[in-house]
Amino acid sequence: RTSGAQPRHVTARVAPLGSRLVLALVEDRTRERRVDSIRRDFVANVSHELKTPVGAIRLLSEAVHDASDDPEAVERFAGRMLKESDRLTHLVQQIIDLSRLQGDEPVAQPKPVAVDEVVAVAIDTSAIDAQAKGITVVPGGEAGLFLSGSQEQLTIAVSNLVANAVAYSREGSSVLVGVRGLDDTVEIAVTDQGIGIPADDLDRIFERFYRVDPARHRSTGGTGLGLSIVKHVAATHGGEVRVWSVEGQGSTFTLTLPRSVANLSEESS
Ligand code: ADP
Repeated sequence: RTSGAQPRHVTARVAPLGSRLVLALVEDRTRERRVDSIRRDFVANVSHELKTPVGAIRLLSEAVHDASDDPEAVERFAGRMLKESDRLTHLVQQIIDLSRLQGDEPVAQPKPVAVDEVVAVAIDTSAIDAQAKGITVVPGGEAGLFLSGSQEQLTIAVSNLVANAVAYSREGSSVLVGVRGLDDTVEIAVTDQGIGIPADDLDRIFERFYRVDPARHRSTGGTGLGLSIVKHVAATHGGEVRVWSVEGQGSTFTLTLPRSVANLSEESS
């Protein structure tokens, strides 16, 4: 820099504007750097998370190869390979869901979405896992309500909440998916009688890749992305997601979302 004098003079004359400008630039750079660092962290996390199932599949295929004359072992290794590839598919799907939602752009063309259908699909998506643990998932509350937004996104969000409720519940317990119409919103509450979440973790569970207990995680096959997807869907719909939980007793997650205007006028006519 050689032309120091002139800009300094100009800056002094227009001090308020100049300092505001500098402040804005500094804030901009700081935000840019933060976004950059979040992106780098995300890529590092994604790579790490992808490596685990890919590495396992690689080892298992070697094991299958080596055990070709032992049909029982082949079957065992193949079963584990299937599980690992399911985990990989789930992770890739969640990364795609999340990347579509980033930026929290409001839903481009919100449409009326039948809550009953969203809940039914969400329950259906977890049916196999629920059945395997003897968990009953019960829909309840008001029927016939409509939300305004994206059916695909809303189904993903509610499915993630139901999947978590099932994953973190004890065998034989129940999960309730309750629907309630408020003035201009609809509340969908997913309540489980599961392991609950420690109070210290409640603030952090909506962060990407955050898990209360990474060790426990391996067995549930979770990705740590489900709740951040739910948070983004709430944001793109101008709604919110909240959680109440008591460790050892269970959790309730509520999604409060804008009600469809079409539905409101239908009711008032
Ligand atoms: P994951 O794929 O690990 O379930 P999420 O983002 O959906 O990722 O959830 C983040 C963490 O929050 C989970 O790892 C789990 O520790 C905790 N969690 C989420 N839902 C529940 C629930 N219903 N009961 C207990 N813990 C939960």
